[in-house]
Amino acid sequence: MDILVINAGSSSLKFQLINMENEEVLAKGICERIGSDGSIFTFKSHTGFQIKDKPFPMNNHTDAFNCVVKAMLDPENGVIKNISDIAAVGHRVVQGGSLYRESVLIDDDVIKGIESLIPLAPLHNKAHVEGIVACRNVFGKDLPEVAVFDTAFHSTMPPKAYMYPVPYEYYEKYGIRRYGFHGTSHRYVSGKCAELLGKDIKDTKIISCHLGNGSSITAIDGGKVVDTSMGLTPLDGFMMGTRTGTLDPSVVTFIAEKEGLTPSEMSDLLNKKSGMLGVSGISSDDRDICAAAAKGDPRAILTHQMLEYEIAKFIGSYMVVLGGCEAIIFTAGIGENQASHRTGVCKYFEYMGVKIDEKINNETIKGKGGLISTPDSTIKVFVIPTNEELLIARDTRDLISK
Ligand code: ADP
Repeated sequence: MDILVINAGSSSLKFQLINMENEEVLAKGICERIGSDGSIFTFKSHTGFQIKDKPFPMNNHTDAFNCVVKAMLDPENGVIKNISDIAAVGHRVVQGGSLYRESVLIDDDVIKGIESLIPLAPLHNKAHVEGIVACRNVFGKDLPEVAVFDTAFHSTMPPKAYMYPVPYEYYEKYGIRRYGFHGTSHRYVSGKCAELLGKDIKDTKIISCHLGNGSSITAIDGGKVVDTSMGLTPLDGFMMGTRTGTLDPSVVTFIAEKEGLTPSEMSDLLNKKSGMLGVSGISSDDRDICAAAAKGDPRAILTHQMLEYEIAKFIGSYMVVLGGCEAIIFTAGIGENQASHRTGVCKYFEYMGVKIDEKINNETIKGKGGLISTPDSTIKVFVIPTNEELLIARDTRDLISK
């Protein structure tokens, strides 16, 4: 059974075709700059065949899907013989709001539901609906489609964790609350962590750190999220590539008034010009900041100090929330690759007996996972490469098999 996993953005379409018999990725790639001049198509098959930067005219998501199908069916270098080899499509959907607590088979009502949540995630959910509709245009209505929500895993949070202390009417009127994101990643790595611990997930207390361009930390008790750092939007939490994370709200009103910025200009500043980019003045990419820090750049060094400190503060607070934890996970671009930050964060917990094996830590990069703490460490620390696409494909298979 082959399942196509789709992550539709406003001008992009990421895809992976996964063979569910052995969970092998048969093909993956991305359509970029959909709707503008010079669309770019990248395709890589399991046989090593690649298409890169070959411009196809892609005016909309339907064109992009047609392009993906054409490449997958290519008689010489394709990965499937017939379009009917694809058993179902799983779509990543960022915002499921309070409507969707788990993955669902998509029907007309679900499309309307995802549309109704557009005010909470204007760019993402609008693009997801476009992706779902385009998928139907190309594959027909009979091919099952499944929606897997970034927020769903966090739907077990109690009200004391998800409510914001603003007048209650805004929760009732607009659904202003913490939703959390990266749920599919946190669910995947925490499941894997339970396997590595050799325990039923119900008997685990785990803190999962997804550190990428966007970052979030989640406290997971018995497989259920009890708190997470991202909030109403992915801006909440701690410093990210270009996002601030949590701030004194007065910083927002102060800068807006002084600089004469509109709400949307302010949102741009907080989401796209702040975080590691804003503090370092160098880049949002941690590799560039590392290079500058190695040369002694004081702002690059400060950025790293702030990042590790903020991550440690979240982990520390979640230890209290969980009443102790047995495992900390690092995942995503920074979590999987930047061994020095893992060391820097874990140093804050040295007093309670957390110890990192530096040799193993330095070797656990570039897709390699495993335990990086010493055998006598009081808390196990793991690097677990995330795989959101695989979880989307598994959910899709499970729902269509029911
Ligand atoms: P996204 O949130 O866009 O999926 P990623 O999970 O790819 O982002 O994380 C991007 C971050 O991870 C960047 O700051 C980058 O510096 C870092 N990163 C990614 N790959 C590596 C690597 N091989 N070595 C060091 N850092 C990396």
